[in-house]
Amino acid sequence: MELKFYNTKTRKTEVFKPIEEGKAGLYTCGPTVYNFAHIGNLRSYCGEDVLKRALIYFGYKVRHVMNITDVEDKIIKGCIKENKKASDFTAPYEKAFLEDISSLGIIKADVYPKASEHIPEIVSIIKKLAEKGIAYKGDDGSWYFSIDKFPAYGQLIKLEKEEMKSGVRINNDEYGKDKACDFALWKSWDEKDGDVFWETELGKGRPGWHIECSAMSLKYLGDTFDIHMGGVDNIFPHHENEIAQSEAYTGKTFVNYWVHCEHLLSEGQKMSKSLGNFYTLRDLLEGRAKEGRKFNPLAVRYFYISNHYRTRLNFTLSGLESAEKTLEGIRDFIKRVSETETEDSSYDAEAEKAVFEAKKEFEEKIADDLNTPQALAAIFSMISKINIMASDSRLSRKASEKVLEFMFKADEILGLDLKSAAEKKELEQEIEALIQERQAARKAKNFARADEIRNLLAAQGITLQDTPGGVKWTKK
Ligand code: AMP
Ligand code: ZN
Repeated sequence: MELKFYNTKTRKTEVFKPIEEGKAGLYTCGPTVYNFAHIGNLRSYCGEDVLKRALIYFGYKVRHVMNITDVEDKIIKGCIKENKKASDFTAPYEKAFLEDISSLGIIKADVYPKASEHIPEIVSIIKKLAEKGIAYKGDDGSWYFSIDKFPAYGQLIKLEKEEMKSGVRINNDEYGKDKACDFALWKSWDEKDGDVFWETELGKGRPGWHIECSAMSLKYLGDTFDIHMGGVDNIFPHHENEIAQSEAYTGKTFVNYWVHCEHLLSEGQKMSKSLGNFYTLRDLLEGRAKEGRKFNPLAVRYFYISNHYRTRLNFTLSGLESAEKTLEGIRDFIKRVSETETEDSSYDAEAEKAVFEAKKEFEEKIADDLNTPQALAAIFSMISKINIMASDSRLSRKASEKVLEFMFKADEILGLDLKSAAEKKELEQEIEALIQERQAARKAKNFARADEIRNLLAAQGITLQDTPGGVKWTKK
C-alpha cells in the first residue's frame, strides 16, 4: 500500500517514495535537556513514533536518528544557576526523557547523538560555509549565516524576499518569522556562558542550535535523506535554517519530506515551559496533576493518537480520563475475546468479514497521512460487531484468534501494549489453577503442598484470603 504524508515543503499530501527501495532515513529533532519534557513535547515525539511505526508496518527498514540538544542557551542558564558542569546538569534530564518516551511506548531511535560530542563536525561545516562566502564572522566574534548568499532561503515557511533582512544579525536561537535575518552558527564566548565553550579554529565559543541538527543529521543519515520531523514551532527558524546550512554546505537537497506535528494546547494556548501552562508526564503518572489520580502512561498515548497529528489538541484532565476509560474498554474487549471458548464455527464467516473490513479500513486510514482517529474508528466498528457476536455465543475460538491477530497487528502502529491484556488472562489462569490445587491439597490434608503453593504465590506478590465465598486473591 502507498503511504502518504503531508509534506510541509510542498504543502501537499504526497506518496512516500524512499531514496533507497524498502528503506527510510528519519531524523527527529530531540529534546533540549534542561528540564523534564512536558506533555506537549511528548505529543510531537509520539506523532513521530506513529509515523515510524507506520513505515515499519508497511515494510520499510527505518534508520532513526534523534539528537539530544545538550548545548543551548537555556542549558547554560541552568548550569550557572545550579553551579554545575553542563554534563552533570543535563544527564538527569536526558535519563528522564528516555524513561518518559519508553513509558509512552515510543520505539527507541537507533542513535541519540549529542551536540557536545559533535563539535569537530560542526566546526568543519562552518569553515566550509565560510570558504564558500556564505558564513561570515561578525564584529562580536560570532559566526553568522548570510541568508542573502543562499537564494533558496525561506522555502519551507514560504518567505518573500522583502520579508528577509539580510545583513541584520540575530544571536538568539529562537525568533519569529518577522525577524528572518542572518543567524548565528557559532556563538563567541561571553562571561555568561561560564565554562561552556570550545577553543576551535572559529574562536572560543559554542555552536548555535540550528547547526547542531545539520551536523548530526548529515553525519548519521547522509547528505540527502528521506524524512525530517519536529513540532510545528520548529518550522521556522529551526528547520528553515537547517535546510539553508545543509544545502549550502553539500549543494544537494537536504530532505525530501518534512513532516510536522501540531501543538498540544492548554486552555487554548500552546503548552510551553515559558508560559508555565504545562504538565510533565511525571505529574500525570505520580498523581500531581489530579489529587489521588495516577494515570496510565499509555492513556496519555491514547489521548494523543485519538486525534490526528496535524490538528491542534487541547489538553484537559477530563479528556485524559475518558481516554483512559476507552483504553480500558479496548483491553477488556481483548480479554473477553481471548477467553472465548465456543467451538461452534458456524458464524466464523461473519466475524472474519468484520475483521477483514476493519483491517482494510485501518490500513487505508493510516496510509493516508496517519489518520489515527479514523483508523481507531475502524477498530471500534469491528469491536461492536464482535461484541454482539460474543454476547450471542456466536464467536468461536478460531474466529476470536483472527480478531486478536488483527488487534495485535494494529497495535504495531498504535503502540498500546494490547498483548498484555491477553497475557494477563494467562497469568490469571495460572493463579486460579494453583489456588484450586491448594484447595485440593488441603482437602486431602496435604498441608505441606498447600503451604508450598501459598508461598509460591506470595513470592509473586499474590496474597490469598479465605472468604465465605471461596478463596480471593490480590496482587501487590
Ligand atoms: P524543545 O525541547 O523545546 O526543542 O521541543 C522539543 C519538541 O517538542 C520539538 O519538536 C517541538 O516542536 C515540540 N513541542 C514544543 N511544544 C509543543 C507543544 N505544545 N505541542 C507539541 N509539540 C511541542
Ligand atoms: Zn533540530
